[in-house]
Parts: sequence; structure tokens; C-alpha cells
Amino acid sequence: MFHNNDFAVFRRQLLGWFRQFRRDLPWRRTRDPYRIWLSEIMLQQTRVAAVIPYYERFVDRFPNVQALAEVPEEEVLRLWSGLGYYSRARNLQKAAQQIVVQHEGQFPAKLDEALALPGIGNYTAAAILSIAYGEKLAVLDGNVARVLARLGAVRGDLRESWRWQELQKVADTYLDPESPGDWNQAMMELGATLCTPKTPQCLLCPVMQFCEGRKLGLAESLPEKRKKRVTVEVTLAAAIFVDVNGMTFLLPSSAEENKKAAADHIPTLVSRMWHFPIVPVSGDPAAPLRRFLQELLPRAKKHKLQFEPRGKVRHSVTYRAITIAPFVINLKQLPRIPGAKRVPLREISTLPVSNLTRKVASAALAIATPLAKKR
Ligand code: SF4
Repeated sequence: MFHNNDFAVFRRQLLGWFRQFRRDLPWRRTRDPYRIWLSEIMLQQTRVAAVIPYYERFVDRFPNVQALAEVPEEEVLRLWSGLGYYSRARNLQKAAQQIVVQHEGQFPAKLDEALALPGIGNYTAAAILSIAYGEKLAVLDGNVARVLARLGAVRGDLRESWRWQELQKVADTYLDPESPGDWNQAMMELGATLCTPKTPQCLLCPVMQFCEGRKLGLAESLPEKRKKRVTVEVTLAAAIFVDVNGMTFLLPSSAEENKKAAADHIPTLVSRMWHFPIVPVSGDPAAPLRRFLQELLPRAKKHKLQFEPRGKVRHSVTYRAITIAPFVINLKQLPRIPGAKRVPLREISTLPVSNLTRKVASAALAIATPLAKKR
């Protein structure tokens, strides 16, 4: 692919393009390792446009590592609520606490120390350390791998371990040692804006003349398709209790419940945050939910609970296609459950809840119940 001084031209063209056309993103206006770290965690599997308002709220509320380390986890989850993949938020705070104790509140500049933090893998460490500290570490994620596969006309499944290692070597070779942070961002920017998965815009590409994939007419068909993980259908039933004042209750997360949830295919993002009583079902959704509620509320055996179905809610999490059947249960008074949180049904979204729980709350509110209407 490269002859004589082509390599220097390749780097110059890509960096020149990036410096001229890069998107003005809030985390690109700083070299603060904390903010760069935060942006990199938020950007994992999440679109830039979705991240921006969350990032801005976060740095406003937690301007530095110390501020993030010392608040209750619930406060962090509340600000993260809606962004998804909540283990990122939990790990972020655990890492902040570790940084305060072990690194005097400063994100570590050494690779092994960065990798020892919760939620930091090779890609994230390379991104943060190159951008914030100028370390010569090349990033490789799906986005950059696609660009490299097209530039080098690499066939086959890129995620196969040996091929991924080869791509890492190529990424290391391409890295501009003078500007590793900008170089990494340039590769990511190329993948995000021009060398996109479906329709690469090769005519606008700053390194078009070096691209083997384009020369061979393979740009759009690379990388080759991976075998898709089979979608798992999951059906759940949820109970939304509502009292005469429109109040409902949510259950807390618990270690025991999480183990059971994983076994039952209840997505952890339901069970690891405040959530409605919810159970996996097959066939009639009301019967297993009723059994579960009888365990949860032994006194309910005496009073047969009236279930009002609220249609179906659909949600997907990675390979799971989830269908939830919500049932509203109107009562004069909410039952007392240790550890449960009482909250107005209409204000669920102010709590750290998953998008699934929000959808269930919306379904419950869609047809206001006679009792809740009075509010
Ligand atoms: Fe991607 Fe096309 Fe540029 Fe090759 S020429 S790197 S396929 S945008």
C-alpha cells in the first residue's frame, strides 16, 4: 500500500483533513483527562448526538473526579438515566473512587494503571492516554477496524482473535508518533463521518488514493459480515400498583435478585435499578405475575388483585427482543414492602430507572386509571 514517502503523505493528508473538518464536540475543547475519560465511556455503543446533553449535565454536576467519587451511586445513575448500559456509570464511579485513593484524584498516565481501573479496556485506555497525555497508543474498535479493513482490503471476520491482533499491529504502524491523540481521533472521525458502515463517501475521503478496498471495488462490502448472534425472545409481565393519589412503588436492586434475573433472562438493566415488580412469563402473563405478587405480598392472598392489562411494550437490549405485558393494579393504599420506593407514577423518570421501566410507566399512564385520574 505504501511506497517511499507515501506513508508521510498518508498521515499528513488524514491529519490535515481532521484538523480542518473535525466536528466541534464539547470534549474536544479540553485536554482534561477526566472529561476525556467521561466522554469515552459515554460514547461506548452510544451515538455522539445522544451523548452531548448527558456529557454537559455530568460535567456541570460533577466537574472533577472528586465530585464524582463522593456522591451516592444513585445520584450518578439518576444523571445517567436514559443513556443505557448502566454498568458504565457504576464502573465510572468506582474508578473515580479508586483514582482518588490511589492517584490523588488524577487519571493515571500509565497504561497498566489505567487498565487496572473498572470499565477501562484497551481501546478506552489508548484513547484517553493518547488524547490527554500524548501517549503513543493506537486505538482499535469496530469503527477504526472497518477503516483499516477497507484501506488494506482485509477479508474475513475482523473479530477473529488473530485478525484483530493483526489489525492492532497495522493501527500501531499507522499511528503518527508526533500527534497520537489527533491521529486516533482522525481515524475515528473518518470512520464516523466518511468511511461509514453502509455508504462510504470515498470521493470526499482524504486518503482515497491509498485505499486498496476502494481500488478493488470492495469498499461497501468490507468488512465482511459476521455471523449474527441469534435473537432471544424474552417475555415479561410487570405490575404497576397505583393508589388513589396516583402513587406507585418500585423495587430496589438486590444481589440475590440479580443472580436470579440473569438466570431467568430478565435483562440486568431492569433488575439492577429501581423497577416495577416484573417476572419472566410464557403463555398467560397474568398467572405467573399473580404467583410472584403473592410471594411478594402474602396479605394479597386474601384480596384478589384486579389486573388491568395495558397492551404490550417492546424493548430490545443487544440480542434480546423483549415483550412486556404491563398490568395496572388500582388499590386504595399501596402495600408496605420493605425497601420499596414510593413515587408518583407520573414522576418515574426523575429516578434512576431504565428505559424499559419508563416505557412500562408510560404504558400504564396511557389510559389513565379512574383512580389516578382524580389526581
Ligand atoms: Fe473508506 Fe472510501 Fe476512504 Fe477507503 S476511500 S478509507 S473505503 S472512505
